[in-house]
Amino acid sequence: MSLDARTQELERNLAAVRERIARACAAAGRDAGEVTLVAVTKTFPADDVVRLVGLGVRDVAENRDQEARAKVQAVLDSARPGAADLRWHFVGQLQRNKAASVARYADVVHSVDRPALVTALSRGTVAAGRELAVLLQLDLDPSGKATGRGGAAPSQVLELAEQVQAADGLTLRGVMGVAPLGAPAREAFTRLAAAAAVLRERVPDATWMSAGMSTDLEDAVACGATHLRVGSAVLGSRPSLR
Ligand SMILES: *Cc1c(COP(=O)(O)O)cnc(C)c1O
Repeated sequence: MSLDARTQELERNLAAVRERIARACAAAGRDAGEVTLVAVTKTFPADDVVRLVGLGVRDVAENRDQEARAKVQAVLDSARPGAADLRWHFVGQLQRNKAASVARYADVVHSVDRPALVTALSRGTVAAGRELAVLLQLDLDPSGKATGRGGAAPSQVLELAEQVQAADGLTLRGVMGVAPLGAPAREAFTRLAAAAAVLRERVPDATWMSAGMSTDLEDAVACGATHLRVGSAVLGSRPSLR
C-alpha cells in the first residue's frame, strides 16, 4: 500500500472514530472536549505513528517496552512537525525490570497495579530526570478472580493511591480499566467510575478515567471516561497473536 493510500485510510478511520465519540458525548450530555482519543499503535510501524501525527493525533499508546522504545526513537527521528510533542501512553502489563526503560520515554503509564511497580517506576523516573503521570489499573472482573490482564482489586485503590502520592516523580491522575471478556462493558465501566469517584474524594486532581476500546467506547463515554484507548478502529486489525 502506498503511503498516501495508508494515510487516507487512517484519516477515514480517525474521522469515523471521532464521529462515534462526538455522538456518544452528545448522547451522554458531555462536551467532546472532555474526552481524549489515545491511538493504540501496538504492532503497527512507526510510519503509521508519523502519519497519525500529521492527521492531528497527539496521544498514542503502546503495550510492550521493547517495541515502544524503538518506535519512540523512530518517530523522533522522522523529525515530523509535532512528533516531539506526542504524548506516549504505556497501557500494557509492565514487569518491574522494564519500569526504568518505560520511564525514559512514556508520559503516562495506565497499568500501575501493585506496590513494587510504583517503587520501580518512581526510581526510574527520578533517574531519568523526568515526571510521569500514573493511572491505577483496576481489575473489573465481577467474579474478583484474576483475569490475567492485570489490575488491582478496586478495594485497593486508596492504598495504592497513597503510595503513588508519596513516590517522587509520579503524579496520580486517575484510574484505568479493561472490560472483561464475556461480560457487559457498561457494568464494568460503572464499577470503574465508582472507584474513580472514591479516588477523587481523596485526590481531587485524579480526574482521568481511561476506559473504552474500539468495540466499547460508547459505553465508556456514557460512564464518564476521559481517555479512550482505541486501536483497531483507527489502525485496522492486528495479527491475531495479540
Ligand atoms: C490493544 C489495547 C487497546 C486497543 O484495543 P482495540 O480493541 O484494538 O481498540 C486498548 N487498551 C489496551 C490495554 C490494549 O492492550
